[in-house]
Amino acid sequence: MKKRIVIKVGSHVLTENGTIARKRMLALVELITQLKEEDYEVILVSSGAVAAGYTQLPLDRALVENRQALAAIGQPLLLKMYQEKFAIFDVICSQVLFSSDVFDSEKHVKHAKVAIDTLLENGVVPIINENDTVSIEELVFGDNDRLSAHVAHYFDAELLVILSDIDAFYDKDPNQYDDAKRRAIVSKLEKKELEAEHTPNNEFATGGIVTKLQSADFLMQHGREMFLASGFDLSDVRAYLIEEEHVGGTLFK
Ligand code: ADP
Repeated sequence: MKKRIVIKVGSHVLTENGTIARKRMLALVELITQLKEEDYEVILVSSGAVAAGYTQLPLDRALVENRQALAAIGQPLLLKMYQEKFAIFDVICSQVLFSSDVFDSEKHVKHAKVAIDTLLENGVVPIINENDTVSIEELVFGDNDRLSAHVAHYFDAELLVILSDIDAFYDKDPNQYDDAKRRAIVSKLEKKELEAEHTPNNEFATGGIVTKLQSADFLMQHGREMFLASGFDLSDVRAYLIEEEHVGGTLFK
């Protein structure tokens, strides 16, 4: 029985100096192909369309409408980069774009699941993103953290792996406090950890740790797990998934 997992990679990991970080993308693609050999079925949720679009047309990204336009320009470029890298390993990848309300409709979820199942059965890696040109929720807030939790739950993955610019969840923000301690395993989240004000202008809640904790909470409530680890250095996630050793990263279970 194959183990189905979802890997979500955020835009901080996938971009560098306003463009796509190709080396990191290649490392991620290599990890996914390794996991496929270890009997994992991998669904990838990838940000990065806006950054890819920006390499072609440098519009002011502070405006939501420009980010929508950049996503439209960048999404095919992003997929082309993935296709080139997966081709090195003889793996086919595919693009699945969702509008934010797809999970509100049982009918749409059912159709989408049939397609995802079929892709996976054929060894193809589905690369999911929100259709940021028409539904701006994750573009404004969330950076696909919530989308990836829904993908994991509704498409029946046992684990969501979030690859972030932070290597774990700490008892306080490690970028602000030197004495922050990593929490290796978390099985319950407090209400206050899940509540940060949800406004597009709130730096903390945009992407950030709160949407990750909300995703973890959603998955734990539905009997699934989440692993948060570094997307810059894939050794912790590789150790956890392949060697079954929990060295770094946080497991929410
Ligand atoms: P990504 O773009 O990689 O998905 P974000 O940068 O949006 O991730 O969110 C991770 C950031 O959240 C970290 O860089 C860190 O500064 C911040 N953060 C705040 N509180 C915590 C905490 N308790 N543990 C870990 N990171 C935290």
